[in-house]
Amino acid sequence: MIMIKSTKPLVSTQAAVALILLGPPGSGKGTQAKRLAHEYQIPHISSGDLFREHMSKETIIGLKAKEFIQAGKLVPDEFVMDMLFDRLAHPDCARGYLLDGFPRTVAQAEALAGKRDIKIPLIVLYLEVPDAVIVKRAEGRLVCKNCGMVYNLYSSSPRLPGVCDKCGGEIYRRPDDDANIVLKRLEVYHELTSPLIQYYTDQGILLKFDGNQNSDTVYYQLKKSINEKYL
Ligand code: AMP
Repeated sequence: MIMIKSTKPLVSTQAAVALILLGPPGSGKGTQAKRLAHEYQIPHISSGDLFREHMSKETIIGLKAKEFIQAGKLVPDEFVMDMLFDRLAHPDCARGYLLDGFPRTVAQAEALAGKRDIKIPLIVLYLEVPDAVIVKRAEGRLVCKNCGMVYNLYSSSPRLPGVCDKCGGEIYRRPDDDANIVLKRLEVYHELTSPLIQYYTDQGILLKFDGNQNSDTVYYQLKKSINEKYL
């Protein structure tokens, strides 16, 4: 078992940091984001979670987003940008944040570059996972409706079927984890999101990780790299 050494939160010792988790759907961004946000005491902002919240409240954004999400497509920028930038304007983001699922296109990355506080250094953490592994993971993925904890029937099942170990919430299968939709999401990822790898590599701020490893190992490597670069 790998022991994860605790470190002091960045915000209490250092300047703030903005993290972006980049990778295909099901590469482990959500799982890693939760742990990193806790470790560095920065808010975890998941565009997918924001949309799911809007969908459950049946807001105008939620109703519109649903059509695209259920088809495995990207929600148009007009619905994404305002939602995201409103969230980034909250005071809890003044000393950093972790973005999970945003940006997903070069246009979104450029919009972020125009809006963000450049005094906060940005690190992009890219989780590389082969498509075949993504398809297999999506087949087994389950998520807690209440706290967003991610499980996998093949590697990390909940102790009681259908019940979250952490909060007792209801565990469900995301409708967009259906095999056909996952293939569509992967296609969209390769076409529209993967150019961000080059975009951020050119800026010298991308760190690449093998996401096809045990989740604790990936977490340890992410944390080590962030700490080496910024602590
Ligand atoms: P996720 O939970 O990150 O896998 O996102 C679920 C779905 O929400 C995606 O498949 C997209 O349809 C939509 N979505 C999330 N983030 C974005 C974004 N930045 N731009 C466009 N659509 C998004």
